[in-house]
Amino acid sequence: MIDLAHYEAWFVTGSQHLYGEQTLRQVERQAREIAEALDKSADIPVRVVFKPVLTTADAIRSVCLEANAAPRCIGLIAWMHTFSPAKMWIAGLATLRKPFVHLHTQHNREIPWATLDMDFMNLNQSAHGDREFGFVNARMRLERKIVVGHWQDAAVTRALGIWARAAAAWADWQGMKIVRFGDNMRDVAVTEGDKVQAQITFGYDVYGYGVGDLARAVNEVSDAEVDRLVATYLDEYEVAPELRRGGERHDSLRYEARLELGLRHFLEAGGFKAFTDTFEDLHGLEQLPGLAVQRLMRDGYGFGAEGDWKTAALVRALKVMDTGINAGVSFMEDYTYHFGADGVDKVLGAHMLEVCPSIADPSAKPKLIIAPLSIGGKSDPVRLVFDAHPGTAVVASIVDVGQRFRMVANTIDVVPLDAPLPRLPVARALWVPRPNLRVAAAAWMYAGGAHHTALAYAVTPDHLRDFAAMAGVEFVLIDERTDLEVLRNQLRWSEAYYHMSRGFGG
Ligand code: MN
Repeated sequence: MIDLAHYEAWFVTGSQHLYGEQTLRQVERQAREIAEALDKSADIPVRVVFKPVLTTADAIRSVCLEANAAPRCIGLIAWMHTFSPAKMWIAGLATLRKPFVHLHTQHNREIPWATLDMDFMNLNQSAHGDREFGFVNARMRLERKIVVGHWQDAAVTRALGIWARAAAAWADWQGMKIVRFGDNMRDVAVTEGDKVQAQITFGYDVYGYGVGDLARAVNEVSDAEVDRLVATYLDEYEVAPELRRGGERHDSLRYEARLELGLRHFLEAGGFKAFTDTFEDLHGLEQLPGLAVQRLMRDGYGFGAEGDWKTAALVRALKVMDTGINAGVSFMEDYTYHFGADGVDKVLGAHMLEVCPSIADPSAKPKLIIAPLSIGGKSDPVRLVFDAHPGTAVVASIVDVGQRFRMVANTIDVVPLDAPLPRLPVARALWVPRPNLRVAAAAWMYAGGAHHTALAYAVTPDHLRDFAAMAGVEFVLIDERTDLEVLRNQLRWSEAYYHMSRGFGG
């Protein structure tokens, strides 16, 4: 459902007429060569589209306006091959509404020591041409990413790829519709937030629907559709005997299939990319969707429990960034702790039901079971149970801190369970947060991070930093370099910075 190959990053090259037609033709040939190489790079998941070399303010403004209006264009990759006097860029950049990355590179890798002359120097002068461009970006206080290095270096293509994934997720959010079935879980604070400001800041819109609307879609599902989906379940998972055909709880499995199909139809018909539910609002539904939510997340939908639309949106964004890598992205919650006798403290993450099987350890077939919800008083939901695979990962949350939003992220190492958890009826991930639980949990709470998060393996703090920059929101990273006192001061300084830079506009 997510396709990054239909997105484009436009490669724009700055120059001027001072050098003459012959030099400009050479600039164009070399810029085209770089754009084509980036387009072919496996590190960059979107198309890189070459645009003619820009030498006038009108041409620059035109390409920026075109980029704004092109739905496939996720942003610009800008490079000043020669010297492009940057007052030419002001009108264009002032209108640009898409993200851009400033690629500071040079066509030629090494200095040709024996033959270097002034012609070569005048052609390969991004070393100062890009500084002129950088000045005007800084002067205009424009949010952008700067990538430095030779265009054939893996570090450069990787950095551009990270930016492109963040920009694709950002493009995906613009005009995105999220459906919220029921409301917020009563009395919970962090899942609340200013939905109008979220739409202004992030571009997505949260649509409230009654649970009865979903119940109607669920009831309209045909028995034949349910039969087919149940057959898929029996094939894909290790299904508990009581849920199989002839088993005493088989009707619950059929109802879960009905829930999945009803939800899926509702999301498709409404063009929704993410959704929330809450166990407090189930009127008309017999059970809280478990497996249904897990499978929809696996297919790329964002999800947040208890009405948590901010996390639903974030899970979706991380799904977009993970597309094609498929290392796994899930809704997650810090659930319980293990203060290890060996001094290594761990977090057991899980949720009541809704952990995405994209993070499951592929060596074991997920188990499909039925068990009570323990709270809520509805009938027992069917859910997939598995362990998350080990590896370095990140957990992230976006919170509304009043007048603005903040993204908080923590680098973690998902580790194997110390011992099996035979009586725990939910999917789970065990991790060691960096630098350690003592610092990470304190830092997380000083920053007001939520108990709900999006967990991802291939998405890195660099992706999240680029994404937060595109949104213009604060990014607080907790990792191996975190010092609590430095972080607390960072939060204080950021408070002042955002207050002064935004004024009354939010
Ligand atoms: Mn929760």
